[in-house]
Amino acid sequence: MPELPEVETICRGLTQFCVGAKVVGVRVYRAGFIKGSKNHRDLFDTLTVARVHRQGKQFALESVCGRALLFHMGMSGSLTVWPSGSTPAKHVHVLWSLARNNTHFELHHKDPRRFGYVRPYSSMQKIREDVWSRLGPDALCVQVDDLVSIFKNKKLSAKACLLNQSNIAGVGNIYADETLFQSAIHPLRRAGSLSRPELVKLIHHLQLILNRSIWGGGSTIQDHQDAAGKSGTFQNCHQVYGRGGLPCMKCGAILKQTLCSQRTTVFCAICQPRRTQK
Ligand SMILES: [Zn+2]
Repeated sequence: MPELPEVETICRGLTQFCVGAKVVGVRVYRAGFIKGSKNHRDLFDTLTVARVHRQGKQFALESVCGRALLFHMGMSGSLTVWPSGSTPAKHVHVLWSLARNNTHFELHHKDPRRFGYVRPYSSMQKIREDVWSRLGPDALCVQVDDLVSIFKNKKLSAKACLLNQSNIAGVGNIYADETLFQSAIHPLRRAGSLSRPELVKLIHHLQLILNRSIWGGGSTIQDHQDAAGKSGTFQNCHQVYGRGGLPCMKCGAILKQTLCSQRTTVFCAICQPRRTQK
């Protein structure tokens, strides 16, 4: 599933291509992909895109009249811009035809594994109240004091605490492992045992890594593409994710691999010691 940098990359592309564009047609190839509505007008038909909003790994388009579309990218979803009249690839479930400044183009929502969806809402306020109210602060904006109160007295592991979207929104397996490695924090340390200076370090590395990944167009492990169809490059900068059994890039020790919250977790036992917990 795309994490914050991949979703932010998609959102920046949609802002560039789609804001100010009017939807002049919608084709739905798989009805079940649309949740909660069967009306094409709810899919922005005849409406103009006004803004793109993101919270953690989720994003939505808002029209000039205030209606909104919430997107879920599933495990392998992509939302890419194509010239008008393009033949949709296999697994494209929704196709929007758009026009801006006399230029016509299309937006194709493809999802081979079908875990994603599109859900229309009457307003962004409704999305914020019904869906995003369950999410914690966005990982790019979370403050040290927020993190201190999120981690305080938590008995679960530091990694599980980072992965829980109701604590912090946007961090998944890649960026949790990379952040904990750079912060020299063992992923299985009890969250409540982290000191304020350790959390200051964690937030610094978290936001640095997320921003670097956004700058690199996100991490393309399998399917991630930006709106222009370009793959990300940050996978080439991963220090631990996907490298279990290979040498640590800092100390040369063999990286360990374990399970945490049912997710494969890679760390260096030398660089991320599991200190005595209180
Ligand atoms: Zn190491």
